[in-house]
Amino acid sequence: MKIYRNIGTLVTPVGKSALRGEAMRKNIVSVKNASIVVNDAGIIDDAGSNLKFAVKIDDVVYPNAKGYAEEIDCKGLLALPGFVDSHTHAVFMGERSNEFCMRAEGRSYQEIAAMGGGIRSSVEKVRNATSEEIAQYSQKFVRNALSLGTTTMEVKSGYGLSTESELALLAAAKRVGELTGMEIFRTWLGAHAVPKGKKQSEYVEELINEQLPAIVKEHAAEFADVFCDEGYFTLEETERICIAAQKAGLKIKLHADELADTGGAELAVKLGSYSADHLLKITSDGIAALARSERTIATLLPITALCIRSPYAPARKLIEAGCAVAIATDCNPGSSMSENMQLAISLSVIGMQMSPEEALTAATLNGAAAIDRAATHGSIQQGKFADFVLYDIPSLSYLPYHIGVSDVAAVVKNGNIVSGSL
Ligand SMILES: [Zn+2]
Repeated sequence: MKIYRNIGTLVTPVGKSALRGEAMRKNIVSVKNASIVVNDAGIIDDAGSNLKFAVKIDDVVYPNAKGYAEEIDCKGLLALPGFVDSHTHAVFMGERSNEFCMRAEGRSYQEIAAMGGGIRSSVEKVRNATSEEIAQYSQKFVRNALSLGTTTMEVKSGYGLSTESELALLAAAKRVGELTGMEIFRTWLGAHAVPKGKKQSEYVEELINEQLPAIVKEHAAEFADVFCDEGYFTLEETERICIAAQKAGLKIKLHADELADTGGAELAVKLGSYSADHLLKITSDGIAALARSERTIATLLPITALCIRSPYAPARKLIEAGCAVAIATDCNPGSSMSENMQLAISLSVIGMQMSPEEALTAATLNGAAAIDRAATHGSIQQGKFADFVLYDIPSLSYLPYHIGVSDVAAVVKNGNIVSGSL
């Protein structure tokens, strides 16, 4: 048992499931002069200012029945839960800064894809690399994310688009977790695009009959995802792939309504998907469907909206309708080259008019719900993993306000400092 004491202010959403609508703002607690007690399994035993047991350390009363193996002075810093980045493509090869410049010159994401850029250009680079090379290349992004306060990350495949290279990417994602200490949950996104030289219908059959069984056999992913959008996979194809994946034991997440409203959000709810992601073009029907859903999280990716020069997703409408909103980076070499959740929070407040409290819930507890981990991750509460971050800032609002600059002092994962120092 160890104690992190002398936390100036501890701010966290409270809950073991997603927070919806106004609860995203209201179910936040802020405790001054707090401590966090962590057991030997890295789980929070107690947190707050009035702990269960009592002991005197430096003339301050702290809990103790058993004695702490270690006490860590948090020097009055502010503690928040570690971010749960629930939508990333953070394991890849190469870079696409040329496309970034082409977009700045006015070309659209779709035009660039039609010119041979986009997802397919990353596929070529991934296919020419070994799994270990991919892991070695990608680890720096994940290490950056950890140093910027992300303690749990979802990583998708989708730059292999063949059984062999999708498995190589998912193995690389696991390896990156081992190399960096980031906790990574994996999603198979074979249905990211149709690879060169294959017909759409032929590839859908390959996904269902070849890739999916191999992914399941190797236990390579917990989730399956489909890029359900105009120019990618249709509603019918998406439904077929997802139902097959569910039958094989995978959980579902969906890319939905990013480039056009195709009814992706409604389909996500119908399928019991854990999330519907992007939602830049969602309609009132899609919002109503998500508001009725007990499971599907509306995951918004504001850095992508910024990079593809699109209006942001309608976060206020979603929250006011009673949806559970998460935010994530969408870290990928094409449309969102950033592993910085703090930037996603800043854009949520500036561009989507979310309050800092809503953005915090979206980046932590609701992100955890989007990967089916709300019971164990995403808030600083007894019984959850001790994943939290200490910041040298005076208040929660300072986090989005200090744009693009990190004030992280130390990152704690499973009770241990894994980045920075105190
Ligand atoms: Zn994505």
